[in-house]
Amino acid sequence: MSTSLMKNKKGLVMGVANDRSIAWAIAKSLSNSGAKVALTYQGEALKKRVTPLAKEINSSIVLECNVENDNDIPKVFNEIKKKWKTIDFVVHAIAFSSREELKGKYLNTTKDNFKKTMAISCYSFTEVAREAEKIMTNGGTLLTLSYFGSERFMPHYNVMGIAKSALEASIKYLAKDLGKKKIRVNALSPGPIKTLAASAIGDFNYILKWNENNSPLKRNITSEDISGSALYFLSDLSSGVTGEIHHVDSGYNIIGMKDLDSPDIFEEK
Ligand code: NAD
Repeated sequence: MSTSLMKNKKGLVMGVANDRSIAWAIAKSLSNSGAKVALTYQGEALKKRVTPLAKEINSSIVLECNVENDNDIPKVFNEIKKKWKTIDFVVHAIAFSSREELKGKYLNTTKDNFKKTMAISCYSFTEVAREAEKIMTNGGTLLTLSYFGSERFMPHYNVMGIAKSALEASIKYLAKDLGKKKIRVNALSPGPIKTLAASAIGDFNYILKWNENNSPLKRNITSEDISGSALYFLSDLSSGVTGEIHHVDSGYNIIGMKDLDSPDIFEEK
């Protein structure tokens, strides 16, 4: 869908790994709605995937940013400041946890992976918000991605669920801290969708099937479902909305896990 909703707006989308990434779906719909979009990618290995995608949306700013590195986030915002002076939006679609710990019991989470998961999947958003504030001089909107495993036990989600809970709490604190500057802070919490990150989660295909069977809409969500909701939060349509966790879901948050149809599949084999 092509609109002029985002005409005269410019901003950054972080977290494109390939054309299945949620970040890519959002970047495309922002561009189709008239926004100028800068992109970051995690490292050299992803550069060759992201470069052609950036061309597709005429992105003139494409920068490397590994959020684990101390200076990468400030460097990105300094570069953007040099070229654009100000921005209107940032999308943070970044998460990581060791594949080995996205199966089995949360109980077995290691301290190293706990710290790494929290730093990449939660703290990086706070750091992004702090840097974004400096160049959002006309106000702005920040959007991150969460998942229902923050609110309830979800099979295999483990330490990522704890990181998403912390991320959701930080949205409330950031919304308060940045409200005076007219900067809004929100999250989308979509249902499961097949991406690179999702493929690390144990039994993911079964989770998709379960969601499809149990959702009120009787289908899994699409990347367009997510980007449509993102446009609302990134545009002036949501000008009075901040501190919100918005479900783009099809079931878990409505019917709950008690109705899980075949729970045995999730038991440790
Ligand atoms: P994806 O693999 O396409 O995106 C994850 C991104 O995180 C990648 O671009 C990766 O490069 C980036 N990343 C990881 N570690 C990083 C680091 N150290 N520095 C910089 N970037 C780093 O998968 P996705 O599903 O599009 O994930 C995007 C967001 O959506 C994540 O926050 C994820 O938790 C969330 N989410 C996904 C689903 C789903 O089912 N796919 C559901 C709800 C929420």
